[in-house]
Order: sequence, then structure tokens, then C-alpha cells
Amino acid sequence: MNYLSTRGGTAVSSAQAILRGLSPNGGLYVPEHIPEMPAGWLDPAASFTYQQLAASVLGLYFPELGAAELQDMCGQAYSGFPAEVTPFTQLDDRTCLLELYHGPTLAFKDIALQLLPRLIVRAAQLTGEKRTIHILTATSGDTGKAALEGFRDVDGTACTVFYPHGGVSDLQYRQMATSLGKNVQVVAVHGNFDDAQTGVKRLFSDPSFRARLDAAGRLPSSANSINIGRLVPQIVYYIYGYRYLRQANLLNTDGLMDICVPTGNFGDILAAWYAKHMGLPVGRLICASNCNRVLTDFFTTGVYDIRRPFHKTISPSMDILISSNLERLLFEVCGRDPETVKGWMTSLKEEGRFSLPGELLRKLQAEFDAGTADDGQTRTAIRDTFERSRVLVDPHTAVGLSVLEALRGGKTQKRATLVNATASPDKFVSDVSAALGLPATGKVFDDARALSARTSTPVPASIAALETMEIRHTTVSEPDQMGEAVMAFIGKEA
Ligand SMILES: *Cc1c(COP(=O)(O)O)cnc(C)c1O
Repeated sequence: MNYLSTRGGTAVSSAQAILRGLSPNGGLYVPEHIPEMPAGWLDPAASFTYQQLAASVLGLYFPELGAAELQDMCGQAYSGFPAEVTPFTQLDDRTCLLELYHGPTLAFKDIALQLLPRLIVRAAQLTGEKRTIHILTATSGDTGKAALEGFRDVDGTACTVFYPHGGVSDLQYRQMATSLGKNVQVVAVHGNFDDAQTGVKRLFSDPSFRARLDAAGRLPSSANSINIGRLVPQIVYYIYGYRYLRQANLLNTDGLMDICVPTGNFGDILAAWYAKHMGLPVGRLICASNCNRVLTDFFTTGVYDIRRPFHKTISPSMDILISSNLERLLFEVCGRDPETVKGWMTSLKEEGRFSLPGELLRKLQAEFDAGTADDGQTRTAIRDTFERSRVLVDPHTAVGLSVLEALRGGKTQKRATLVNATASPDKFVSDVSAALGLPATGKVFDDARALSARTSTPVPASIAALETMEIRHTTVSEPDQMGEAVMAFIGKEA
């Protein structure tokens, strides 16, 4: 299977696509065709583990990496997860949470980022790449820690994470700033997530920075969902989730399930789109945003417009205006025409907006619904879910639930919906406590203990430990100095 850049040029192998992360022309890699799902995967009589399914999905997209190797990698990657890698919690007779947050950093990013370092090391082996693969990643909070955990002390790799200074939650900050591992670096960037992400993309396409890295024996790569090696592992849980809904007898006679995804960079929901186009019986794809509602407006009007204020919300991992992975969907919807995609991306860069012809907008609307929940609605959803079902959800998941409820609008249409639960409520404990009406102490670990008492569930050990762990990373950078920060780290590391 070869990979094309959304902005044109020659195809590369899957190993090269994974190693590079982003195409040198600024485009994102997409598979040259979307593989079809074997019918056996949907057969209720067939039984397989999450790990086995993951190895099969990866085998369709990255056959070059080797079936036996992929099986080993999937087995190792999920060994620290519960036996049911993505447990299900049914909220009512048509709503099921898919809990994606049982990995080491308590957010769904672990599912891909426990696997990605292994894919990268294997890809380097196959291509004969001898340089150290240096991961450069921008994070709105959760990718950073998941990448730091995934790459920590992995031979042949290094990892630098850039996060918006003051733009992540207290626990997210502590998780990152206390990171261990001799090959990892954490840098706070003045600005918001988009500034950090744009800064990283600039480093990738800056020949002089690449030359300096090369001279230091390094090849830059990405752990953001712009890397196809991050996206494909996320396809797995939708197929797994469909099998669960069917076994639990939640599907209607049409056999379809809807999927509702709290969305930021558009990676997770794009993986659902891939699953659908591989043949998974999916009805609607519901794209839920917080009040940074660029995507909601886009799916409603066809105009993508980032000339608007950036809001800091209680769902910070979705505080994004430039949703990178949308470019992959745009590539597909316009009939895989790189020139058209380039036109839109140039317009986005130069004018802060682009607009889709009506006919293409209708094509998207035939698959996607979109909606927005502001912080007040998010808190209401947290409280309602706890009161109705005794289930605690984090603010990101609550955005999804709020949008889903609004879209259903009391209609009796009963299609079963899988709602991605993208982070543990323990990771956003102060906002969750406030939503439940618990008194705010302003101290995150006191809040965690109070919430734990209220819900009779223990504070996760990985959160409790943060209270006394040493802050090891204190570097702060301007957006135009991010490359210098990386070079300084390499100098120290060597
Ligand atoms: C990253 C993240 C999201 C958004 O996922 P995208 O793939 O960027 O759309 C939602 N919720 C949480 C908790 C996240 O960490």
C-alpha cells in the first residue's frame, strides 16, 4: 500500500509515510485506496481480541510492516490496558459510551500513541533509516503526555512536546512537566494551540532547520494525528464498538450505528469516516465541538473561517481553530484533486478562510451532523449524566453527549449511537466537581479527593502520584524560537 500527499507529488511507501509524518510539500499522507473490510470482521460468530483486530486493521493499511511484527506490536502496546481495551458503558437503550481512556495517561490518545513508537521504529528498520527519529509535536494537552509516555526511552527516538503556555489544565501541565525519560523534552510556547501547531508545521517545512537536525543525525517526525500511523490505530475501536453494539442487541433493523465524536483536530472522527468507508455499517457521523465552533459552522455553511476569537474552554483538548485532519476529508470529497486542496489551504493561510462549493457541502452533509456545546451546556451534560445514569464523564465527552441530545431533539428515532469517551473525568477533576455542584477548593488534589468521596471511586494512582512528583521541565519559548529550543536540547542530550 502506497501513500499519497493531499497536496500532490509522488507516492511513498507506508513505512516512509509513517516515518515522515507530514509530507515535505506540507500535505498529509492518505492511503492510495481505502481498503475494504473483510466480511468476517462483522461476523458475530467470529471471536477475536482487540489486539488481534488491531493487528488485522494495521495489516490492511501497512502490509509492508509484516503481519507477525504487527501482532507483536499490538500485543505489547495494549498490555498495560484493561483486558477489554476499550470498555463500554451503556447510558440508555440507544446510547453507549466507548471508553477510550484506560491507557497510562488517561486520554484516548494512548490508544494510538502506545503503538506509534513501535510503528516508527519498525518503519526505520525497513527503510534503513539510521538517524534518530525526533518527534516534534504540538499538543492541546493530551497528545503531549501520551507521546511523552509512548516515546520515553525508546531507542532510536527522541520527543519534543510543545504546549500552549497557560493553555492546558493543571493536571495536564503536571503530567507533562514531571515527565521522565532521557530522550524527552517539554516546551511551553507563548500563544495558543494553533500557534504551537503552526510552529511545528513551520519547522517541518524549514529547510535550514531540517539541515541542522540532519547534521545532528536526526530526522523529524510527528506524533500528531497528521501522522497516518496515529490515525489508523483509531479505526480499530469503531469496528470493535460496532461488534459490541450488535452483540448487546442495541442495533435497529437497519443494522447501522451512529458515531458521536468530541472533536478538535478532526483525527478521531476522521478515523470513524475511514471505518465507514471500509464497509462498517455506520449511519451518521456526529462532529461535536465546544464554542470554538469552526467545524460546526463549516458543516452548516460550507465556509471554514478562522477569523474569530479563540476561546479557552473547560474542554481544552478541543480548543482548536485549525483542524488539520479536515484536509484529508477535503481531499476525498473533491475527488482526490491535490490542486483543489492546495487552493483551499492557500486561501486558509492567506485569507483565514475557504469555502466549499454547494454540491460538495451537500456531499459532506449526507454523512456528517455537527453541533456545539458551550461550557454551560457541557456542565449540564456532566450533571445530567451523573444524575440519570450514575456515570461520570469528562468535559470533552460531555460536549459529545450534549450535542447528541440536542440533535436528537426529543425525536423518537432510536438509532444506537456510540459516543467516544475521550478522557477520564479524573483528568479534569475540578471542572467535573464544579459541574456536580461540589464546592471548589482551587486545589486540584483536594478536588480529586472530594470527588472520589462523592462518587465512591478511588483517585487513579497516576493522578495521585503527580502531587509529589518533581517538576523537571520548565522551558518556555516564543513561537519563532521553537527550533532553537529543540537544538539546545539536542546539544544537552549529546
Ligand atoms: C484530542 C482530544 C479530543 C479531540 O480529538 P481530535 O482527534 O483532535 O479531534 C477530544 N477529547 C480529548 C480528551 C482529547 O484529548
